[in-house]
Amino acid sequence: MRQFSKRFTQQEALSKDAINAAVEVMNHGRLHRYNVHNEEVAEAAKLEEEFAQLMGSKYCLAVASGGYAIACALRAIGVRTNEKILSNAFTLAPVPGAIVSVGAQPVLVESNRHLTIDFNDLESKAKQSGAQKLVLSHMRGHICDMDKLSAICKQLKLILIEDCAHTMGAYWNGTPSGKFGLVSCFSTQTYKHINSGEGGLLVSDCSETMAKAIILSGSYMLYNRHQSRPSLENFEAVRLHYPNCSGRMDNLRAAILRPQLVDLPKQCRKWNRRYYAIANKLKNSPVIEVIERSPKESFVGSSIQFFVLSDNPQFVSKFLDLSHKRGVELKWFGDKQPKGYTSRFDSWQYIVNHECPNTINILDHLFDMRIPLTFTEDDCKLIGEIIVESANTCQ
Ligand SMILES: *Cc1c(COP(=O)(O)O)cnc(C)c1O
Repeated sequence: MRQFSKRFTQQEALSKDAINAAVEVMNHGRLHRYNVHNEEVAEAAKLEEEFAQLMGSKYCLAVASGGYAIACALRAIGVRTNEKILSNAFTLAPVPGAIVSVGAQPVLVESNRHLTIDFNDLESKAKQSGAQKLVLSHMRGHICDMDKLSAICKQLKLILIEDCAHTMGAYWNGTPSGKFGLVSCFSTQTYKHINSGEGGLLVSDCSETMAKAIILSGSYMLYNRHQSRPSLENFEAVRLHYPNCSGRMDNLRAAILRPQLVDLPKQCRKWNRRYYAIANKLKNSPVIEVIERSPKESFVGSSIQFFVLSDNPQFVSKFLDLSHKRGVELKWFGDKQPKGYTSRFDSWQYIVNHECPNTINILDHLFDMRIPLTFTEDDCKLIGEIIVESANTCQ
């Protein structure tokens, strides 16, 4: 039986351009974003300008992490202590973490078989809880019908924050993911679409909100050194009224991200070729069902999710074990114990746990796998075959 031997946690090396840019920053030593000579524009400020341009957004702010970006967005839109914030139940732990970090309470909304938010449950939970804000997490890159969602937000007067950790470079019906929210948040952590180890980006078209976010990120009254910012009058009303919740990005990380932004579309195409190499193989199993996507969704296949429908109660452990023995590291979202990056919402015991029985039922059958770009398309075909053979053997 053929064996797969590459590592699922190994990303590509940084490009020569990124390495050279990092060396340049290290040579001059001005790593702090506000440490600039005369008219110099810091790498962090340049990254913000370039990401705003790529997104077609008015403003961008670079921060310390994706989770920090969400917390900063929530503070900037004026979330109060104990305020209820809606979020889809199928998401990653930094999302409830960001909500709790600002003293607010997550209200979890059911996710559906497309791994996106359930609109009926959103309406009823919004009405029940009186919540006025929604952090919509495009978890693992699955994008809901954004036209419908925008209409629901409008009707219920919900302020939308998008969590685009897995949708940098993705689109809904031709509009970039991250163009629907009042603020949208991205991550540049190693397992996302551009890699600076840790890092986050916020974009918004709202001058007032972005001025607050820049102050909140810890700009020490040096906000005039930002390029992608609202005009200086916008800071007058807020500069002394918002705390410095220190969470800036440094020039070293910004320097290695800038060349990666240029390569983003090419990288997204590479991910999708690998995604389909696996997905096409998975069609060969009667028990595997790859998550169905809307034709309006231009996603980035940096990971793949599928259901395995088996009546055998021993199936999951056997299937995981068989795949693992052949070198394919699958994650199972049904596990009651959080393992690595797969945590189920009922393990977040620091929040009031809301009933989401449909989501639990979905997660019980849900498997997940990262697709690092160090895998070739042939690797991906082999991975697909191993998954199919493992599933067919133990059903
Ligand atoms: C990674 C991730 C985040 C947070 O990003 P960090 O940069 O690790 O803080 C938020 N939401 C989702 C869905 C993610 O996958």
